[in-house]
Amino acid sequence: VTPAPARITSTDPHEVLRRVFGYDAFRGEQQAIVEQVVAGGDALVLMPTGGGKSLCYQVPSLVRPGVGVVVSPLIALMQDQVDALRALGVRAGFLNSTQNPDERRDTEAAFLSGELDLLYLAPERLRVESTLRLLDRGTVALFAIDEAHCVAQWGHDFRPDYLMLSQLHDRWPDVPRIALTATATEATRTEIAQRLQLTGARHFVASFDRPNIQYRIVGKNEPRKQLLDLLRSEHAGDAGIVYCLSRKSVEQTAEFLSAQGMTALPYHAGLDAGVRRRNQSRFLREDGVVMVATIAFGMGIDKPDVRFVAHLDLPKSVEGYYQETGRAGRDGAPSTAWLAYGMADVVQQRKMIDDSEGDAAHRRRLGQHLDAMLALCETVECRRAQLLGYFGQEPTGDARKCGNCDTCLTPVTTWDGTVPAQKVLSTVWRLKNERRQSFGAVHVIDILLGKRTPKIEQFDHHELSVFGVGSDLTEPQWRGVIRQLVARRLLEVGGPHSTLQFTDESPAAMRGEQKVLLRTEPERAARSRRSSSG
Ligand code: ADP
Ligand code: ZN
Repeated sequence: VTPAPARITSTDPHEVLRRVFGYDAFRGEQQAIVEQVVAGGDALVLMPTGGGKSLCYQVPSLVRPGVGVVVSPLIALMQDQVDALRALGVRAGFLNSTQNPDERRDTEAAFLSGELDLLYLAPERLRVESTLRLLDRGTVALFAIDEAHCVAQWGHDFRPDYLMLSQLHDRWPDVPRIALTATATEATRTEIAQRLQLTGARHFVASFDRPNIQYRIVGKNEPRKQLLDLLRSEHAGDAGIVYCLSRKSVEQTAEFLSAQGMTALPYHAGLDAGVRRRNQSRFLREDGVVMVATIAFGMGIDKPDVRFVAHLDLPKSVEGYYQETGRAGRDGAPSTAWLAYGMADVVQQRKMIDDSEGDAAHRRRLGQHLDAMLALCETVECRRAQLLGYFGQEPTGDARKCGNCDTCLTPVTTWDGTVPAQKVLSTVWRLKNERRQSFGAVHVIDILLGKRTPKIEQFDHHELSVFGVGSDLTEPQWRGVIRQLVARRLLEVGGPHSTLQFTDESPAAMRGEQKVLLRTEPERAARSRRSSSG
């Protein structure tokens, strides 16, 4: 057993910052936050990933008498966090379900005898009365509630155990609390403050802009090939993360990239814990490793030189997207956030929402999250402006064009898609009455393009008046039209065969009563420029 290091004591936050952490100055609002908490006040801190949230509670924990208690859902990372602090001479420990009773008893004893500066706690420990009594018997310097958005049901990462945290205030009204999160819209922020009873807390809202990240969202055609092109042409030898929705797709994509000569490793919750640990540590320690992962990977991963984050599937919410892409470029160097998205993503996500457990309100919330994500995908405005607007930080004036996202770099125009929309909707309308069968987007496009496929002949769909009326657009363009109609709920996809169906808004659009402005797909832009110059 190594002896616990002697406590580095100081009542001066700057001295602690320098002597313990080795930094010369606080960054951004860190100093104001530290002062607020040291003085015994509550704080709600909204800071993007990489902004430096940890110091905001670590420094006050060392300055104030007693032990800083940090509630964190990141159980898998507690050991690493504690090791890192111990390496700096900070006396840290944790309590979570991965420990055996002896380890737990040792930590509890250290807490009670004043031999700890920081104690990390899994939220479910607070369900146990003995933990609460333990905290009563020691001196708590502050409560830090990390990943505080987990308390918000509106958010994308709700954890029921977090609801227990409201009792901190009732039981220890004099202990300051600092809640921290990297993802918070106005709605989530309000809910955090309310559920944690942070009524008198000062709010610190850092800028959510990550200027060195270039945001790009492209139509999904051949995702793996598109990804490979991106990695070869712009990120050869770079470290990065590729997010996929399913475990199977994680494994296939990792194999595909490996076969192309890259160091690509899989990571998902279904893999053996040893494999996960090994892959994670290779990603952190070696250069140029591509981690192909589900969203199970990444929370709390602090690797500064992640040069790209690629999504092969649509994230469920803007908050999730922002958090995942935020893992790129923590060192401030240019980085890419790239997302490929297609109609199948919308169909799949809507289906997952329909099938999800929970009440109608819950499903409605998921639907709203998805709609906001789709709006970001389909915007013709600056992506960054749209993202920041979502977090309540709408840029004004010249800042509305960031110059470092795809829509700023290659401006996207809209075109009047009223007539093409009518063609699609009329086709869907005519197919609607054929109850025996269900027809998806592929079949609708075949009809519009006038293709005599076996399925079309089988149902005599070449006899329909809409057969061949869509030869003015190409197949990818029709896919783009249908995807956008679905994204805007002018059409929906349902049933086991992903049938295109009418929504309440479809009839008006079919009659041409509603003007439908569509995003010009990049291929179409190139095409119309050529045809207008010829
Ligand atoms: P967050 O939790 O907000 O994602 P971290 O607390 O992990 O961010 O900090 C991100 C990185 O910035 C870390 O490597 C940390 O050491 C560094 N950092 C934080 N504050 C400062 C500072 N005042 N000066 C220099 N580096 C800092
Ligand atoms: Zn922009």
